[in-house]
Amino acid sequence: MLGANVWRRMLGVDRATVIEAVELDETINAVVADVRPRRDAKRRCGRCGRRAPGYDRGEGRRRWRALDLGTVQCFLEADSPRVACPEHGPTVAQVPWARHDAGHSRDFDDQVAWLVTHTAKSAVCELMRVAWRTVGSIVARVVADGRAAHDPFDGLVRIGLDEISYKRGHRYLMIAVDHDSGRLIWAAVGANKRTLGAFFDLLGEERCAKIRLVSADAAEWIADVVHERCENATLCTDGFHVVQWATDALDEVRRDVWNEARKSGMTGHAKELKGCRYALWKNPEDLTAGQEAKLAWIAKVNTTLYRAYLLKEQLRAIIRVKGVLALTMLDDWLAWAARCRIPAFVELGRKIRKNLAGIEASLLNKLSNALIESTNTKLRVLHRMAFGFQKPEHLIALALLDRGGYCPDLPGRAA
Ligand SMILES: [Zn+2]
Repeated sequence: MLGANVWRRMLGVDRATVIEAVELDETINAVVADVRPRRDAKRRCGRCGRRAPGYDRGEGRRRWRALDLGTVQCFLEADSPRVACPEHGPTVAQVPWARHDAGHSRDFDDQVAWLVTHTAKSAVCELMRVAWRTVGSIVARVVADGRAAHDPFDGLVRIGLDEISYKRGHRYLMIAVDHDSGRLIWAAVGANKRTLGAFFDLLGEERCAKIRLVSADAAEWIADVVHERCENATLCTDGFHVVQWATDALDEVRRDVWNEARKSGMTGHAKELKGCRYALWKNPEDLTAGQEAKLAWIAKVNTTLYRAYLLKEQLRAIIRVKGVLALTMLDDWLAWAARCRIPAFVELGRKIRKNLAGIEASLLNKLSNALIESTNTKLRVLHRMAFGFQKPEHLIALALLDRGGYCPDLPGRAA
C-alpha cells in the first residue's frame, strides 16, 4: 500500500481529506478510493460552508468521478450526510474534494472547463468520458464558483452593453463588458428594459453611481434605462455598431446595383456583382488578391458602388482614429454623405447626425470598438458550440468561462 501522501497527490485531494482505503473495483474496472472529510472539514453546509448540526444520512454512500489514474477510471467514495443549515435548511454537507451538487471532483471539473476553452467539443467528451450536457453543468459550476470567489462587478467604471441575436434573430442575449479589463462580466437571456434593469439591480445603487461611461448601440430603450440607473454615466454609441450600419448601407447599394443590372439584361455583369459581397465587406488589409481585383473592377465599371465603398471605409477609418481629429473627419464625412446622392448613405448620414452626441462621446473617450466586436463574434461561435446543452444558462456560463476570465488552471499546474 502506497503512503497517504502519494495517494493524496494522485487522487487530487488536499489535507482536509482522509483516505481510508483504495481498491480496484473489477466490475466497473475502476479504482475506488474510500474517503472522508477530516474532522474540521466535516458537518459544513454544502452551500455556505458554515458549520451546522447533522440532519440525516442523506443518500448514504455515493461516488464522485475523479481524474483517471493513467488509463484507469477513478472514483472517490464517501458518505453524503445532510446538515441542518440555519440559513439553507437540510443541505448535503460540504466535501473538500468536490463542488456542491457535483458528481465529479474539483480537479475533474477544472480539467473539463480548461479543455472546453482549448479544444474541440468531441475531444473533450471522448477524453474525459462525459456527455456534452454534463460538460454544460460542469462549466456552470466552475463559473458560479469563480464568481462567488471574486465579485465581477467591483470597481466598474467604463462598461459596454450589447444585444446579441442568435437562432436567426428569434432569441437575444444581453451582455455587459468591462472596457478596462476587457472582460465579459454579465450575460442574460432576453434584451429588453427588464433584462437590463436586472443587471443594474445586481450592481446596486452605489456601484451604478460609480459608472462613468456606458457604450451601447443606439437603441433608445437602452439609453432610457442607463439614464435612469447610472446618473453619472456618459452614454457612448459603440463604434462597432456605427461601422455595422455603414456595412448594411453598402450592402443595400450593392443589391440595388445588382438588381438594376439584372433587370436591364446585363446578366454577366449582375453575376460578377453578386460575387463582390466579400470584397466590399472585408477590411482592405484582409483582402485576397482575387478580392482586390474585384474592387478594382468595381471602381472601373460602377462608380456609385465604389463611392459607397469609399464612404464606408472612410467611416471605419474615422472610428479607428478616434480623438479630436476624428471629430473633424466626421464633420467632413457627414458633408460628403449629404451630397453623395446615394440614398442609403444619405440616410446613414441622417442616422449618424441623429446619434451624433453618442458617437462623438465614443470618439473622444477613445473607446475601442474591438472589444464589443470580438465578444459579439465569439459568442456566436460559442452558441453553436453550446448546442446540446440543457439550459441557456449553460451557454452563458460557457461565455463567461471563455470571455470572463473564469477558465481555471489545469489541475496541479498553478504557479
Ligand atoms: Zn448554508
